[in-house]
Parts: sequence; C-alpha cells; structure tokens
Amino acid sequence: MNTQEMLQKLTELEQIQYAYQYVMGVTNFDGNTAAPKNSYQARGQAMAILSGETYKKFINDDVKELLYNLKDKKDKLDFISNRKVEEYIENFEKISKIPMKEFMEFTKLRNESNHAWEQAKTNDDFESFAPYLTKIIEFNKRFANYRKPDKKAYDVLLDDFEKGMEMDDIDKFFKQLKKDVVPNIKEVVKKSASIRDDFLNRSFPINKQKELSYILTDLLKMNRDDYIIAESEHPFTMGLHNNDVRFTTHYYKDMIASSFYSTMHEAGHAIYGLNNDIKLNTTILSGGASNGIHESQSRFYENLIGRSKEFIQYIFPTMKKLFSDQLGDVTANEFYLAVNKPKTSLIRIEADELTYSLHIMVRYEIERMMFEGEVEVKDLPAIWNKKYEEYLGITPPNNTKGVLQDVHWGFGMMGYFPSYALGSAYASQFLAKMKETLDFDSEVAKGDFTKINLWLKENIQTHGAIYTPKQLIKKTCGEEFNPSYYSNYLNSKFKSL
Ligand code: ZN
Repeated sequence: MNTQEMLQKLTELEQIQYAYQYVMGVTNFDGNTAAPKNSYQARGQAMAILSGETYKKFINDDVKELLYNLKDKKDKLDFISNRKVEEYIENFEKISKIPMKEFMEFTKLRNESNHAWEQAKTNDDFESFAPYLTKIIEFNKRFANYRKPDKKAYDVLLDDFEKGMEMDDIDKFFKQLKKDVVPNIKEVVKKSASIRDDFLNRSFPINKQKELSYILTDLLKMNRDDYIIAESEHPFTMGLHNNDVRFTTHYYKDMIASSFYSTMHEAGHAIYGLNNDIKLNTTILSGGASNGIHESQSRFYENLIGRSKEFIQYIFPTMKKLFSDQLGDVTANEFYLAVNKPKTSLIRIEADELTYSLHIMVRYEIERMMFEGEVEVKDLPAIWNKKYEEYLGITPPNNTKGVLQDVHWGFGMMGYFPSYALGSAYASQFLAKMKETLDFDSEVAKGDFTKINLWLKENIQTHGAIYTPKQLIKKTCGEEFNPSYYSNYLNSKFKSL
C-alpha cells in the first residue's frame, strides 16, 4: 500500500469507529435519561457486544501494522494526519498492552467495587470498601506499569486524563493555590457569613425552571436544532457531532441555583462540541483537547460568565418576571451575592467557586500518596479528615461526608480529579487573554455573546483534539499554563464581595 492508500484505510477505520461510538453514545444518553429502569441489563448486553466488536476491529495485527507504517511515513503526512496516527497509536498501545484476562477481571472488579462503594457510603462503613479500593489501586498500578514501565504509575494515570500533565505540573499549580488562596479563605468565609441566600431555596416551579434553561441557551446563541436538554440524576453532556449535542440538567423545586448553573455548565461543554470544526466530525480528533480543557469551557460559561455581576444584572429582571412570587423581594445584587457566597462545605459538588479547588487538592494529594506508597488504605479516612481541617478548617462528622463521598475511586478512576481544578484555572487564563482584545465585562453586561463565543470558538473549540492542552494554551495565550491568573481572579473577586 502506498501512503495515500494507507490513509484511505485509516479513514475507513475512523468511519467505522465513529459509527460504533455514535450508537453507543446515543444508547448511553438514552440509558441515563429516557430508557425504562429495567432496560439496564438489555442495554448492558448490547453494549458489551458492541465493545467486543470494536475491540476485534481495532486491536489486531493488521491495524497495528497500518498505524506503524503510517508513523514511518511521518514526513509525508500533514499535521492533522500525523496527529490522528499519534492518537490511534496511543489508544492502541493503551488497550493492547494489558492482557485481556486482566482487563476483564478489572471490569468485573469495577462493577463490584462500585456497588461496594454505594453500600459503604450509605452505611458509613469505610472498612467494607477498603479491600476493593486496595485492589483498584493495585490494578491501576499494574496496568500503568504494563503500559509505560519507565514512568511513575500516577504520572501515567494523570496523562490519561490530561495529556502532558505530570505530578510536577500539578504540584506547582496547587502550591500556588496554597500560597495565594488558602490563607485568605477563613477570613472571606467569615466576612460573607451574613450574606442572605434563603430565597434560593424557595419553591420554584419546575416548568418555569425549564423555561429558564432555554432562555439561557438562547441567550448563549445555541441553535435549538443542534442540541437538546434532557434531565438526569447527574447532569452531563454527550457531544456526538457538531450538529448533534445532547446535555442534561437536574431540576430541584427548592434549589433554583442548581439547574440554573448546571445548565450554564453543561451548555459550555455543549458549545465546545457544536463549535468543533466541521472537518473533525467523525474523526478521532473531534471533541475536546482534554478533560481539563473541556472543563475550562464549561466553567467559563458557568462561573466567569454566569456568576459575574454583569451577567446577573442582565438576566435578573427576566428571572424576576418568571419567578415574581419567589424573587419579588430580591435585588440583582442580593442574588449575585447569594450565588457567590463562599462557604466551607464538606461536599465537593456543593462547593463554591472559591473553595472548589481545595476539595480537589485534598483528593490529588491523597491519590498521589496512594500511588507513591506513602499511605495505607486503612488510614485514608484519618488523612482525609486531617487535610479538610488543614485547608478548609472543617472536619467531616463521618466518612459518608468525607472520604466516601465521590463515585470516582469506587469506579476505578484515579488521576481524574485534577482536571476539574485545572479547568477552572485554564478558564481564568483564557479570560485574561480574551480581555486583551475584547471588552468582556461590557459584552456580558449587554447580554451579547457574539464576540465572546467567537473568541472561544476560534481560539479553542474549533480545534477539537488537534492540540494537546499544553500546545493549545501556548498557542492561545502565548505562554505556558500559569496558575497565577486563577489565584488573582479568585482573590480579587472574593475580596470585593
Ligand atoms: Zn463539566
């Protein structure tokens, strides 16, 4: 085969992969939103068959030969084709280096462990979950070693979720937060204690909350023919094509801020998918550069726009009209303060913008210790509580509200957490760059998102996964990832509340 024929072959494989992923994505979305409760097993069976088929199709000697032959022709390929080959080889190596038998064992363990975690969380019983967690860590260590024996296991895992990021990078990031942000938290929280937020928990009719979701996505100029908003327990986004993005929110009658901000957040993820360059559709490079970069876009819309004073002043009259009984006695400024009120809470997903990354820092430091062999699983609750006391000044009353609160470890996901915090930090750096050429505050105050959307599209979203996070940041901002934009943003916003 000549180079052109090999590229043609790769494109054919890509198309098949796209079709599988599309079907599995839609099925997954349906399973979380509309499918009947008892469809769980039927769907699991179908998905297992489809995954088996993709495995056979992509993990075999013919594909390996094709990929490595293309890699040898590197000089003859354009940038995009080279990036595709790189991505395919990485995926290939990731899957093929793990013995099938062990992979199946791990899949089984993850299901059992996830169940054990649920029970343990319900019963506040860390000891019953500990043996599963021990095995999860062992498997992760072993797999990382099969894949990249010359690298530290935790670095391999971090790289899976945030390509190019290693412990050194994340350490630097959190060190900066510890220096710049942690010392101010207690004072800011104390000063904000008197901020009134009772009205956020009044009774807000669900049908009007739904109306509000579409008011928001219309305002963000999303084309209603390209996306849908559904409902699920935990909000999430499924980007399938730049004309087919689906996301969910969750409506609680007595928590208006919950669906308001989950809609803004997921809309950010959705806009990323909608703004992918059309030529990336159906390719391995569609979607986002990484979890962290994806999260930078969702947090941009949720926090930098949605929790800004300018945005609230713009949207609040509309909300007041929609919820005249509930918000009649509230001013825009009171609403702004309420949705930004910093609190030292125990629960990550309820955390405010200021303290959120500290929750992530605790998890990162503990994961790092686990993989570096500096802690035994049985000691995790004590370490967890100590770190909460140190960074947030509170101690969980039990493990349900402490070390057992997140689904990730039970499900075998290690190294995932840092991308949440990186997303917020990347977003602040992008905003600083955007402000060099665009009057962000006044655009938001006008409720006009044309220029802001275009900036994000051209600089970030259109590129899909063409660049790694580090390359994208360098290209967009003209400098490396710099966490001081984030600490400056947090300090200036929260000191002025
Ligand atoms: Zn997100």
